[in-house]
Amino acid sequence: MINVTKLLTGLEAEGDHLRYAPQNQSRHHGAAAGMGPVVVWNMTRSCNLSCLHCYAEACKERDPAELTLEESLRFIDDLSAFRVPVLLFSGGEPLMHKDLFQLLEYASSKGIRPVVSTNGTLITPAVAKRLKDAGTGYVGVSIDGVAEGNDRFRGQTGAYERAITGIRNCLEIGQKAGLRFTISRHTYNDLPKILDLIEEESIPRACFYHLVYSGRGQQLQQEDVTRKEARNALDLIIAKTMELRKKERSTEILTVDNHADGVYLYNWMKARDEHQAAHVLDLLRRNGGNRSGSAIGCVDWHGNVYPDQFTRDVRLGSIRERPFSEIWTDLSHPVTAGLRNRKPLLKGRCSECGWLDICNGNFRARASVSGDFWASDPSCYLTDGEIGLVRN
Ligand code: SF4
Ligand code: SF4
Repeated sequence: MINVTKLLTGLEAEGDHLRYAPQNQSRHHGAAAGMGPVVVWNMTRSCNLSCLHCYAEACKERDPAELTLEESLRFIDDLSAFRVPVLLFSGGEPLMHKDLFQLLEYASSKGIRPVVSTNGTLITPAVAKRLKDAGTGYVGVSIDGVAEGNDRFRGQTGAYERAITGIRNCLEIGQKAGLRFTISRHTYNDLPKILDLIEEESIPRACFYHLVYSGRGQQLQQEDVTRKEARNALDLIIAKTMELRKKERSTEILTVDNHADGVYLYNWMKARDEHQAAHVLDLLRRNGGNRSGSAIGCVDWHGNVYPDQFTRDVRLGSIRERPFSEIWTDLSHPVTAGLRNRKPLLKGRCSECGWLDICNGNFRARASVSGDFWASDPSCYLTDGEIGLVRN
């Protein structure tokens, strides 16, 4: 995640102490010194929607082999002992999971910040209150366009209105919530409207996700935006971030899943303010770029462990066989070991890039669509000149 607001305006946000902690880049595992990784837990495959890009390939029915309550509590105990700072409850749709509130509360009581990633359509005022009472740190609601655009993509009429209502229901009672928006060819034209919506609805946090080709998203590779569109999207996001700060709004704007954005933001700042650009570069270097398999990990509803929520074809182990902490610190799996020291393994443009220290080869899940896990990330929209390549 790249906090655009923090980098361009200096405004601090929750999570920046992890994101920009000194020497993160050289840390072997964990989100910051003495900590375990941020863990995304796809706790159920059940979902009331059927989005085109769903990486979890969710469906309506509950999988009878989901982790039991007892297994889930044991899992949280282990994460707590491993000093995992944040547990992201995701799905499927986590609000379809019968034990969600109990598990949120349990994680919170064990010193882990529980956050929820949801389609928002099930957040009634009563549900918002239950989320807050359970100690939920943040609720991220996914929206993929405005009105019919979102509903078409999300596979349900009225999903957009219900998601916005879900955010409002949270904010009304002081439950921090924000929106998540995936940039794709389907959603690209709605980006300006979404940026305006953030301001109109006083949504305190918005995360703009780049498309990762995984799950149902794999067929969507052709649906990713062009390089020019990706750059335009960043320009719109930057302009809105600066506008909101000028209006003294404390909205946090972040981009997710493409660390080429860090280079783009640095170049943007360098063209305007060399001194501030040096500060931006320092923060980006502290962060170190993509840290799948070290600072972020994922567990699915069966207890399988993956380097991140998109890299589903690389199973590192199962918490049904041994604790997450043990799997995470065992370097006998070649992908775990490779991700912790990936620079010598990268190929193509990424291997020759001058920005490896702030991008780290970007997203391996996208690269592996080519058939080679260590190939270049195809979604890098930077020119050869921008990454320091001179081709004759
Ligand atoms: S709401 Fe989320 S889990 Fe449900 S189908 Fe859409 S992307 Fe998948
Ligand atoms: S070439 Fe690779 S490492 Fe360099 S910025 Fe692009 S994606 Fe990142």
